[in-house]
Amino acid sequence: MTERLDRFMARANAAYYATRDPFADFTTAPEIAQAFGEILGLWCAVVWDAASRPDPVLLAEAGPGRGTLMTDALRAIAQAAPAFRAALRLHLIETSRRLRAVQAARLPDATWHDRLDTVPPGPLLLLGNEFLDALPIRQFVRRNGAWLERHVAEGRFVEQPAADPPANQAEDGAIVQRSGPALDWARDLASRLARYGGAALFLDYGGGTGDTLQAIREGRPGDPLADPGAADLTAHVDFAAVAEAARSGGGAVYGPEPQGLFLARLGLFQRTDRLARGQPPARAAALIEAARRLAEPDRMGRLFNALAVCHPDLPPPPGFVTEQSAA
Ligand code: SAH
Repeated sequence: MTERLDRFMARANAAYYATRDPFADFTTAPEIAQAFGEILGLWCAVVWDAASRPDPVLLAEAGPGRGTLMTDALRAIAQAAPAFRAALRLHLIETSRRLRAVQAARLPDATWHDRLDTVPPGPLLLLGNEFLDALPIRQFVRRNGAWLERHVAEGRFVEQPAADPPANQAEDGAIVQRSGPALDWARDLASRLARYGGAALFLDYGGGTGDTLQAIREGRPGDPLADPGAADLTAHVDFAAVAEAARSGGGAVYGPEPQGLFLARLGLFQRTDRLARGQPPARAAALIEAARRLAEPDRMGRLFNALAVCHPDLPPPPGFVTEQSAA
């Protein structure tokens, strides 16, 4: 059987998230530090305030994993912005039934969706951490002045003529990636935000060029084509393309900003110091170490980036300096 790469990736990840505990294989920012989710919750509260405090308002997350980010966010919101807490209605976009059950144990008041388009209309604040990187990609490879597309057959790539190849020229052997679902997501989300108001924040890794498809299995990189469903498949997010898609949907785009800079601007280290105060020294040191892991440039601080999509009338959201203009 020969399968286009994006279909292979969709099938492999659906099987992976349906049957495995992803967090046995890899960890993510909200699992590393509670301050991460707290800060993102307060980001939503500030944007809600800037949007003239719509009530009710939808608070949503795409790909919530174990529900940790949202649990931390809601705790911080309840403390610092009780009016926002009272106004919000929680919606989680999650395809894995297995992870939905984990989320429901911690977030019993949420409503679940398979896709963005069943989330009801209305002003929306949406968070997505390591969500876009899980969406399927296609890969095109340049051969003898033409683009071929990568398909998968029996654990190996095979190259076939592409129906809708990239428009650009490239050197022989060059690989370009395209994530249709990520771009559709960004455009549909932006048109919703432009229509009903609100903002979205994505944090993800990106910036790589060429082939960035990777598999993580039991904490280690593996062959992405081997044993579909046994490893988590991701690819770097093409932030420039996501931003362009969001603008085409009518959104104002901010970033990408390096995650470390973004979190530091939002007070990651101040919050961490507060949490560490009065703790036993080993616990305090662990909290500070976790924050540094998220923010230091040679760790998660630069590989990961933050990108915001907003209703065009909103002021720049916290952590971002200027709107990104069209390329
Ligand atoms: N945000 C979490 C989990 C990241 S893993 C964290 O930071 O820890 C990716 C998450 O996206 C998982 O919850 C996975 O089940 C979900 N997911 C993957 N593809 C999806 C899709 N097409 N639609 C909705 N959720 C998806």
